[in-house]
Amino acid sequence: MTAELHKRIAVLGLLLATLLLTGCQPAESPLLERRFIALGTIIDITLYGAEAEQADPVLAAIERDFHRLHHDWHAWEDSRLTALNTALQRGEHAPVPAELMAVLKQARALNRSSNGLFEPAIGGLMALWGFHSNDLPDSVPDNDTIAAWLAGRPRMTDLALENGQAHSDNPRLQLDLGAFAKGVAVDRAIAALRAAGIDNAIVNAGGDLRAIGARDRPWRIGIRHPRAPGVLASIATRNDESIFTSGDYERYFEFEGKRYHHIIDPRSGYPARDTASLTVIHSEAATADAAATALFVAGDAWPRTAADMGIERVLRVRADGTVEMTPAMAERIRFETEVEPVVVLQELP
Ligand code: AMP
Ligand code: MG
Repeated sequence: MTAELHKRIAVLGLLLATLLLTGCQPAESPLLERRFIALGTIIDITLYGAEAEQADPVLAAIERDFHRLHHDWHAWEDSRLTALNTALQRGEHAPVPAELMAVLKQARALNRSSNGLFEPAIGGLMALWGFHSNDLPDSVPDNDTIAAWLAGRPRMTDLALENGQAHSDNPRLQLDLGAFAKGVAVDRAIAALRAAGIDNAIVNAGGDLRAIGARDRPWRIGIRHPRAPGVLASIATRNDESIFTSGDYERYFEFEGKRYHHIIDPRSGYPARDTASLTVIHSEAATADAAATALFVAGDAWPRTAADMGIERVLRVRADGTVEMTPAMAERIRFETEVEPVVVLQELP
């Protein structure tokens, strides 16, 4: 495991302890928990009121599924995705397994609704920035390299997905599922739990999660403060909700006194500006994950992108510390630290 991953997981371990604000458990707790590492983060599954005999086989199956997706969709280690990227680069019509095909179609739909701000065809640019590595980059690509990528800018709309095959006329198109793979995996885990008759659960992938049912009281979820240790705010989930955050603190490096993070604006080729973290609540985790990334990239125009993607609950912490949110989010959120100013949008566009 790399130094970067070690560090992130150590921080996450502490954070997860505070994120799930469940308090102390009595000795005979009706909570069951399973924790493992996949998709570059800690996966934490908490069940309420399930028997271990009922839960163990499905938890084992979910863990296997996460590991498989981790290997199949890895963006820079040998995987089905890197094999597909190589074939696309050569201009081939590449066969795509049915499961990956469904995910690519879902990604293309989310790319459309976000007007290209969620852009999984951005893999080549991520590699130019040096983020396709187990270690963080230590320098910034030069302007000309970025300008060259922009000149031939690949988009998901360049990707033909037909008859079980993928093809693109743009050889620069390289897929990177980093902005929504966790969401897809979380949705799959929830579906597996439900199929096993488990209706009260949280599947938490490094602080991004989907919660179904409740415990003896609603699940209360913490949202990390982007600039301080601990929790900024908390939300009590209702029935079935996903809460996903994109943040500039998750993967970043500093170069000549400036922070460069891993959420790239495909219009400029540079890390998206003006947002420190952006949280959305939505029923489906895959949509929540893609939307958090897209709204982060949208910057001040996030209300327009939220409306286009059908996202009603949004919390944004601007890079200057101002907190903005939709009225539907304001109804649900409880701040756990003092923040100001807080701006509640009166109307979505
Ligand atoms: P997230 O933390 O969900 O916002 O995802 C960030 C990850 O998504 C990055 O590490 C990249 O792998 C990928 N990514 C970066 N920028 C974009 C973008 N504009 N659209 C889609 N994926 C992106
Ligand atoms: Mg995302």
